[in-house]
Amino acid sequence: MFKAKKVKDSKQEPKKIKRASKHSAILRGFKDILPEHMCYWQHVYNLAHKLFFDYGYGQIEVPLLEQTSLYKRTIGEHTDIVTKEMFTFEDKGGDSVSLRPELTPGIARAYVEHGMLNRPQPVKMYSIGPLFRYDRPQAGRFRQFHQLDMEIIGDENPIADAEIIFLSYLFCKKLGIDVVMHINSLGMPESREEYIKLLKEYYKPKRRLLCEDCKKRLTKNTLRLLDCKEPSCRDLTQEAPQLIDYLDDESKQHFVRVLEYLDESEVPYELNPFIVRGLDYYNRTAFEIMPVFEKAEEDKIPQAIGGGGRYDQLIELIGGRPAHGVGMAFGLERLIDVVHKSKKDSVKRKRPQVFLAQLGEEAAKRAFPLFERLRESGICVRANFSKSGLKQQLEIADKLGVVYSVILGQKEFLDETIIIRDMENGIQEVVDLEKIVDELKKRLKNHE
Ligand code: AMP
Repeated sequence: MFKAKKVKDSKQEPKKIKRASKHSAILRGFKDILPEHMCYWQHVYNLAHKLFFDYGYGQIEVPLLEQTSLYKRTIGEHTDIVTKEMFTFEDKGGDSVSLRPELTPGIARAYVEHGMLNRPQPVKMYSIGPLFRYDRPQAGRFRQFHQLDMEIIGDENPIADAEIIFLSYLFCKKLGIDVVMHINSLGMPESREEYIKLLKEYYKPKRRLLCEDCKKRLTKNTLRLLDCKEPSCRDLTQEAPQLIDYLDDESKQHFVRVLEYLDESEVPYELNPFIVRGLDYYNRTAFEIMPVFEKAEEDKIPQAIGGGGRYDQLIELIGGRPAHGVGMAFGLERLIDVVHKSKKDSVKRKRPQVFLAQLGEEAAKRAFPLFERLRESGICVRANFSKSGLKQQLEIADKLGVVYSVILGQKEFLDETIIIRDMENGIQEVVDLEKIVDELKKRLKNHE
């Protein structure tokens, strides 16, 4: 028999794909969301749709893939996201494209592309979906993660900043989690230039004490030194000059007004001079949302569950007529983790109430219409249509933890009746098939 000779060509051999673990097929930093966890996601989605609709935000979907230049221009050439974290590749036409690492640039592009500047301003939008960053995988950091993003574009007034912060707070409150907003002002790019010079002067003599990443940041991404989580860098940062002391007058006034609005709306906040955000397009207001932990977790450095800020030059950078904007994004994996751990876990898991068991060919044919009748009446019903043995079906019902099983056998099929079985004590009762919905509802009332 002909045996193909294995040719070893190292140039053509694909590189090893990094997997989550030796035995795992999923990529590192990626994860599945299983059906049993979806109740949390659905709860967050439902709440978002309701809240944003009520506050006049329209939902927008933008592509997962955009031209790489969109992100370079907006997020900034020297930022961590653009230099290290984008999934960038050439498409078949030779264009450089990237999976979205952020939602705001895509939404801003859509604002320009669809002439939204000609609509009544501001335009308020929200979006939910996956993002991709080739980040170092660790607790709370994934390479595919999800954000809930909200934007107000076409509004210069500090009340827009306050609205975004207020809504972020309200969203957390509705989810039953305690948070505090950490707020700073980044001023305008011109005043920031002066400050960055001072910051460089401060850090340069201490360069050898900085972590490797911050050594690189010192020349091109200096502001990011302020939010480095490495203990040695954090110690140095405590004594660093603070941006708030170098703000231009207009930015100062803008900041004061944002804080006044927040005071009136009773949003809990702290001034945090180290909030700088990792993106070039922010100016003036910048904020992050920190969960408030129980005592036992106090020694951990909390991870922000969301953040945002004002961007007054972004739309112009994309090629539009000048328009001011402000926005934020929640990281949903982290937000859901906090909801899950929260004592006031507000997510109601809908438990199945009734199991529909059928015995015999004729009864099985009735199963779909009967299931639909029960479902339509609002009863949470489960079945396993392909199983025919009663014992097997009742075992499934037991595992599901239903309150009642309804059993449709050959005899009941002929008599137009059905059996109701109380799963707790095994007591069975025959009732008219016609009255099954009313009978179940009556009994289920005692189990609410
Ligand atoms: P950013 O767009 O970097 O301001 O991030 C906003 C929020 O998204 C953060 O506060 C996190 O909650 C979340 N986030 C950012 N990067 C990641 C990641 N790699 N994995 C999971 N969540 C993330």
